[in-house]
Amino acid sequence: MNRWNFYTTNEIKPAGWLKRQLEIQAAGLSGNLDKIWPDVRDSAWIGGSKEGWERVPYWLDGFIPLAYLLEDKDMIARAKKYIDAILSYQKPDGWICPCSDEERKTYDTWAVQIIAKTLTVYYQCSGDERIPDVVYSILKNYRDMLKNGDIVLYDWGKARWFETFIAINFVYARCKEDWLVDLAKILKEQGLDYNEAVPLWKRPLNRWRFDTHIVNIAMMLKSEAVSCDILKEEYTDTADKLHAILEEYNGTPVGLFTGDECLSGLSPIQGTELCSVAEQMYSYEHLFACTGENKWAERLEMLAFNALPATISDDMWTHQYDQMSNQIACVAFPGKAIFRTNGSESHLFGLEPNFGCCTANFNQAWPKFALSAFMHSGDTVINVLPVPSELKTKNEHITVETNYPFENSFKYNVEVNEAITFKIRVPSFAENLTVNGEATDAKELSFDLIAGEKLEINVAFDVKPTFVDRPHELKTVRCGSLVFSVPVKYETKMHEYEKDGVERKFPYCDYELIPVSDWNYAYSTDELEIRRSGVTDVPFSSKNPPVTIKTGVKKINWGFEDGYDTVCAKVPESTQALGSEEEILLYPYGCAKLRMTEIPKI
Ligand SMILES: [Zn+2]
Repeated sequence: MNRWNFYTTNEIKPAGWLKRQLEIQAAGLSGNLDKIWPDVRDSAWIGGSKEGWERVPYWLDGFIPLAYLLEDKDMIARAKKYIDAILSYQKPDGWICPCSDEERKTYDTWAVQIIAKTLTVYYQCSGDERIPDVVYSILKNYRDMLKNGDIVLYDWGKARWFETFIAINFVYARCKEDWLVDLAKILKEQGLDYNEAVPLWKRPLNRWRFDTHIVNIAMMLKSEAVSCDILKEEYTDTADKLHAILEEYNGTPVGLFTGDECLSGLSPIQGTELCSVAEQMYSYEHLFACTGENKWAERLEMLAFNALPATISDDMWTHQYDQMSNQIACVAFPGKAIFRTNGSESHLFGLEPNFGCCTANFNQAWPKFALSAFMHSGDTVINVLPVPSELKTKNEHITVETNYPFENSFKYNVEVNEAITFKIRVPSFAENLTVNGEATDAKELSFDLIAGEKLEINVAFDVKPTFVDRPHELKTVRCGSLVFSVPVKYETKMHEYEKDGVERKFPYCDYELIPVSDWNYAYSTDELEIRRSGVTDVPFSSKNPPVTIKTGVKKINWGFEDGYDTVCAKVPESTQALGSEEEILLYPYGCAKLRMTEIPKI
């Protein structure tokens, strides 16, 4: 098993469409949350009176790498202002969270876990020499309080215990002190064991639980990968076994698991919370780093290229709480929502639909994805994600020019001072792979470079669009890491208002999407013809998708779900064609805000 290490924001820089995506994010909600959102702007973490728990650490966890990847001086200065304030409130014993000494006993220490993690991210970006001692003292105090029984893990801290290991591993790499192992053991002992919850994952419950909670599960997938070394346990790929069960009973066509907000079964009209998209991506990044296995990188791509852009607006100012794979409308439910435990506006695009966790937490998804483009182990460098980017370290300078996943050709320029082995991960779905024009059936490309060598590598492959079976005798169209949907045209209704002292005004208002075209279709041909129109200024544009698929569909009898007039029925009433074949252009799932992704084939 190969252990891969992450690079820092000083070493990896996004390029091409990925850089543009990060620029859109910085110009949107992520880059402005501290100016407009009370829970970040006036947080107790910085001496204010608003939320003093997960929201500021969540936001910083994405805002910081975003600022450094873009080398944005203003954002870097604003990040430092937050870090300075947070550090200034640390108590002499190491406790850093904004609550009184008396409140510690009842303060859910999930916030300790996430602030420790966020500070390690800050160190990796900034190199701020204050941080290692601060993280050390936070964890030492946490260990002491847990060991003495002053506090115990409960609720979120108990459900997310493994999140602490990002910081534990960071400190342990610098000083191999036994109390860190002690802390690791206490956390595992007191933490939730998700293996015991597996029977509950096979049948959706209409109630809320920590051990079926979709975000907890998304985070948990990396628990063995981040904890096995320090606990001296053998890595057994538990994540893959749990992944298989989750996929069988709650899978979606884009690699998510339904959770609105606890596991919700296989229905295409159940939702998945945005926090889980970001956390599942982060888990897969760690799972690839731990195992080096292609499957985790491919699962990561599925989420990044489909689920993530689909649930955030083109300008990245608004997002959904829950996305559905068959989503014919994003209109508030007048009565009970279709979602099991989420509210009637969870699928609207807005500032904080349903609940504000995703508002703070989605920020980490693209920056950490960009940071996972390359990893290293000894004198070997691997290109994990073949997206446009640049790696520049003391020894190597590597650039990747490509429009992947919208196109499938890649130009690498590699220049080294000392000898390295450079590997390129090849997706399992790549066909007709060529390297510098010569055909190869290699599953991974590997190049040994000698000291001072310069190398240009041109890689290309084909990806064929195919129909993929889904439950309920439905099909999805997939082409490599891109999933395609029948797009539904819509009108947008904007809502500006104020609720509980939080303003929603353009561009961070709420939007309802009201369908104006038919959606009751079945595929009626085997022909799937890829059309590429180039990447625009908005990579996953809902107006001008960079790639579409031409195919044929026929209308069928497909009504509404019982009790709703803005949700399609889980399955059609009949697959009998109602008319002749219509030519249609399928959109990438990530570009289709309203869509039918799972439909029959007749
Ligand atoms: Zn959330």
